[in-house]
Amino acid sequence: VMRWIYVFSLSSVLFYVCLQRFWTGSGINRNKGMVENLQRYGVISSKKVAEVMETIDRALFVPAGTPAYVDSPMQIGYNATISAPHMHAACLQLLEENLQPGMHVLDVGSGTGYLTACFAIMVGPEGRAVGVEHIPELVTGAIKNVKKSAAAPLLKDGSLSLHVGDGRLGWPEFAPYDAIHVGAAASEIPQPLIDQLKPGGRMVIPVGNIFQDLKVVEKKLDGSFTVRSETSVRYVPLTSKEAQLRGF
Ligand code: SAH
Repeated sequence: VMRWIYVFSLSSVLFYVCLQRFWTGSGINRNKGMVENLQRYGVISSKKVAEVMETIDRALFVPAGTPAYVDSPMQIGYNATISAPHMHAACLQLLEENLQPGMHVLDVGSGTGYLTACFAIMVGPEGRAVGVEHIPELVTGAIKNVKKSAAAPLLKDGSLSLHVGDGRLGWPEFAPYDAIHVGAAASEIPQPLIDQLKPGGRMVIPVGNIFQDLKVVEKKLDGSFTVRSETSVRYVPLTSKEAQLRGF
């Protein structure tokens, strides 16, 4: 009997190991497949953005049981969502020129930390990628996610950091920023974010209530700025923590 128990437990361990290999292996291939699809449909035209999205496996950032590679936003708890892959791709491309090695980037409403991790890979160890999120549990979760990802060394060396705070105030410590991304819709562009944008810097921010536009803000070298609308979007609101937990 003992021998049979031994054989049985050994084979179940082997089965489990194989299954895990299979899952993780296919996960990476499916992440690559997602990126290839976005390229095929013309959402991603930048080679650099494709590389970064291949490097950061999206499955590490979504809650267990959530289909990671489907092109749709997903619930992450606390009335928040992770944006759809095509929105992440679009924002990375809009900010690409301002995400060069050594540059500073702020991610307001960093949620799962997915995009902050992508930004960190782009600006590299000489740069700074800063996430601000007002739900402490999401920040704790985001740190765990990043630690499993290819951006883990950047978190360790401090070039990537994730903070609990009201993102409407920005994060002055590492300002001014070459790039600012806002992952929640503001009724108007918060002044502190404009102030923390570097001359020559660019901000991507959804603005509006029911009808929202993804705005691109560019600060000129003389400190003046321009705003244009890129496309219509639907994001969760940039609001107070209380309003969000109440369900807006
Ligand atoms: N970009 C992230 C999350 C998008 S959802 C991702 O793709 O994973 C928008 C996020 O903004 C939510 O996590 C929400 O909690 C956060 N948020 C909303 N208002 C905020 C505020 N005032 N300050 C900081 N974070 C805020």
